[in-house]
Amino acid sequence: MSAGERPFVVAIIGAGPSGIYAAEALSQQTDVPVSVAVLDRLPVPFGLVRYGVAPDHHSIRSIRNTLERTLEKSGVRFYGDVTIGSDLTIDELRGVVDAVIYAYGAGTDRRLGIDGEDLFGSIAAPEFVAWYCGHPDVHPDIDRVAARGPDTQAERAARLIATTRSAVVVGVGNVALDVARVLIKSVDQLADTDMADDVMASLAKKTVTDVHILGRRGPAYTAFTTKELRELGQLPDVDVIIDPADLELDGSSRAVVEQDKVAARNMAVMNGWAAAPPTGAPRRIHFHFWTRPIAISGDGQVEAVHTERTRIDSDGYVQGTGETDSIPAQLVVRSVGYKGTQLPGVPFDAATGRVPHSEGRVIRDGEFSADEYVTGWIKRGPTGVIGTNKSDAVETVTSLIADIHDGAVQAVHSIEELDELLAGRDIHPLGMPAWHRIDAAEIELGESHGRRRTTLAHRSELLAAAEDHDSDAAAARP
Ligand SMILES: Cc1cc2nc3c(=O)[nH]c(=O)nc-3n(C[C@H](O)[C@H](O)[C@H](O)COP(=O)(O)OP(=O)(O)OC[C@H]3O[C@@H](n4cnc5c(N)ncnc54)[C@H](O)[C@@H]3O)c2cc1C
Repeated sequence: MSAGERPFVVAIIGAGPSGIYAAEALSQQTDVPVSVAVLDRLPVPFGLVRYGVAPDHHSIRSIRNTLERTLEKSGVRFYGDVTIGSDLTIDELRGVVDAVIYAYGAGTDRRLGIDGEDLFGSIAAPEFVAWYCGHPDVHPDIDRVAARGPDTQAERAARLIATTRSAVVVGVGNVALDVARVLIKSVDQLADTDMADDVMASLAKKTVTDVHILGRRGPAYTAFTTKELRELGQLPDVDVIIDPADLELDGSSRAVVEQDKVAARNMAVMNGWAAAPPTGAPRRIHFHFWTRPIAISGDGQVEAVHTERTRIDSDGYVQGTGETDSIPAQLVVRSVGYKGTQLPGVPFDAATGRVPHSEGRVIRDGEFSADEYVTGWIKRGPTGVIGTNKSDAVETVTSLIADIHDGAVQAVHSIEELDELLAGRDIHPLGMPAWHRIDAAEIELGESHGRRRTTLAHRSELLAAAEDHDSDAAAARP
């Protein structure tokens, strides 16, 4: 069948920004008719825009309004609550669609590889972020009275928050700044967010007075954006403390600052902080550059982070100087990057944590796979801002459309085959009407206690809110 007669059926795995931007690029092109199914394992779309972007960054989170409009377009359908790899295998999905685009993100953490990393109180940033964003994986539906099992991740996070005075955040990217802000802001300063009620209740018991941010390289080498960095200095009742000696630039740092405008702007912000005497504010953020953690210690739970001063050797590698110190802390958040994992049956390069590809065309067993494409974090790694996923998705969709023109991808399936396969498995995807009901329920819940919205963190809450009571009632009518 040639282009123009029958729509090509494209399944996109992952309804985060990259998957939705791929759907947008497919729906905007007019070369070939396409039916797009955007599948996500969660009942709700938006990926890390909902479950990663900091809840106090309202304008960035509002990107979801734009993403939502794409999922509403004709020819695009959202299939929420369908996990590829367990509900359907990759091969089963590939058997009923003409092409798949992997857009399933890079959701696990990198480890530090030091002693004490698994002590209670040492937590990976993806888990901590998922906790405060109300991700259902971290807020499981467990009847605690019946279960009496070990604490859930959410319960552990709540206990930590209520007992931590000093926290160490390892890493110098924007996620580290998000974590530091959530830890140091008072609960009142977080009241205008949509954080889940459980999370807000835990944050209300927060005892954190000091957050230490560790960077194993110097201040010129951070991955902060200046706007996010500057925000720390604007927090009421918080002093930002930097040792001026840490800001002295060696030769390689100076070269970085001369070439990189963001690094130069960040240095200016930090120099301003270092020059200003602390005001005696009740809470503090301390930056420690040229400092790496070498061990975490404590009797059953974190009590201290042991550090070593570092320098860069002539080959540009970070080396320990042997000069050690320790920071008393009850909580360590490891924010040293996200990492992709393999979806069963999908080609994967464990060394890079990505799906191997060229311009978005997946390479399987050393050759281009005719119907598999990739975009987003699982394609290029966890880098860039949300907008980076747009150009990335356009590249992938351009490859797919070119392959359709070349006849490498054929339109042989219909979207009904996917629906029948799911229905045959008793899998009932949640579409956009369900999302709108969840959205309305979150707004209603928030407004009921004076907030703009409140995230429903538990899967059972999401599914209950997604239910269409009107049509259920109609169906029940004789
Ligand atoms: C903590 C944090 C804060 C951030 N803050 C900002 C910010 O302020 N500004 C900014 O520009 N960028 C920010 N980013 C980066 C931005 O979130 C990413 O660039 C973007 O989300 C990557 O998009 P993605 O679609 O590749 O992955 P994701 O957003 O992770 O989406 C992947 C989707 O795939 C789904 N999925 C996974 N496995 C399966 C499966 N087996 N079956 C079906 N579905 C599956 C997931 O549920 C998820 O919805 C932040 C990132 C993090 C981690």
